[in-house]
Amino acid sequence: MSLLIIEMGILAWIKKILGISNMEKKINIILFGPPGSGKGTQAAKLVEQYDLLHISTGDLFRHEIGNKTPLGLKAKEYISKGQLVPDTVTIGMLKNKVDANPDVKGFIFDGFPRTIAQAAALDEYLASQGESVSKLIALDVDESEIVTRLLKRGETSGRADDQDASVIKNRIAVYKAETAIVFDHYAKKDLSKSIKGIGTIDEIFNRLSQAIDSI
Ligand code: AMP
Repeated sequence: MSLLIIEMGILAWIKKILGISNMEKKINIILFGPPGSGKGTQAAKLVEQYDLLHISTGDLFRHEIGNKTPLGLKAKEYISKGQLVPDTVTIGMLKNKVDANPDVKGFIFDGFPRTIAQAAALDEYLASQGESVSKLIALDVDESEIVTRLLKRGETSGRADDQDASVIKNRIAVYKAETAIVFDHYAKKDLSKSIKGIGTIDEIFNRLSQAIDSI
């Protein structure tokens, strides 16, 4: 028993020396919502305000596609049809990105998790690091507005999946069938919050900031 107390004392002392005794938990935000709901635009502003690392799985896939890597070629098969890239591929890629950035204050996950399996993997992975999801914030935008926004974005984004109405339709259908329930997964833990995703960029940003400041 006394040996245990001595060991705990030594551990606390080492932690103090290393400056990790009062290390704060990271802020891990899931920015949630259907395609075209404005997650990318808002994430860029949140990064500036809160000094978090923005991880967009869609951007990571597009980077891989641009470099014609095996992962990119595989992802392209699914993305071009408006389908989800398989969970194992997506989860592995996400973990690599998080692992590569151990010293950040936290993360904004954009476009991830998109399935319950991804949410469970994220929860387990963060727990293994003594971390957890701080909040899921959903941008609420109705379907007709989303289709209009995506087609408009397609005129300049260079993204083939924003230009084809049937691919857009499929992305929305996949969101409803597989992704929307991720909101409920975190609502059960009292971590989900929905905010109005219509208005000016600054109005939406203020709503998001309020939700984050109340964590
Ligand atoms: P986004 O840029 O978030 O709209 O993502 C573009 C496309 O990348 C999606 O339509 C999916 O095909 C794929 N993708 C992005 N994130 C994920 C994810 N978490 N799980 C599976 N596929 C994803």
